[in-house]
Amino acid sequence: SVASNNKVFQFKLVLLGESAVGKSSLVLRFVKDQFDDYRESTIGAAFLTQTLHLADDTTVKLEIWDTAGQERYRSLAPMYYRNANCAVVVYDITQPASLEKAKVWIEELHKQADPNIVIALAGNKADLEARRAISTEEAREFAEEAGLLFFETSAKSAENVLELFTALAQKMPFEQ
Ligand code: GDP
Repeated sequence: SVASNNKVFQFKLVLLGESAVGKSSLVLRFVKDQFDDYRESTIGAAFLTQTLHLADDTTVKLEIWDTAGQERYRSLAPMYYRNANCAVVVYDITQPASLEKAKVWIEELHKQADPNIVIALAGNKADLEARRAISTEEAREFAEEAGLLFFETSAKSAENVLELFTALAQKMPFEQ
């Protein structure tokens, strides 16, 4: 038999952000490489897994918790982020209010989540450039100051979706 150094690590990832920014669509793109223009809203939370093969024979299995953005599910969120290793906080580059909401989530994560949580800010719907209302620079500056990974993504075109999840996976603590 062939000796293998392959190590498998499992981490928990939570998606947060205002309703309709594209959280479920990002997960659908990442897990199934699909996009649906007429998705039903997530109720409560949905759970999916995806496996990434990183360099050095490291395999990362991400347990993805996609939370509903509606205000009435707000109080459930701590259940999902409490023992998360990483979080993707999503806003929509055409909706300035969604970035304000993302900032509130990030503040809450910094106060309430595991202090070692790795957070990425994702400006989704980057394909809608003509309707852009938040500049890349403004969001990047905020992300840098807050110590977040930052990507502009499109679940529709697939731009930066794999890059986003891979960047988080690479930041996970791989014990020996
Ligand atoms: P969620 O409520 O945050 O999970 O958002 P959804 O994933 O349900 O997406 C809300 C709506 O935005 C749906 O109509 C999606 O098809 C659409 N959508 C999601 N991501 C994108 C994207 O990257 N580009 C465009 N143009 N539309 C998107």
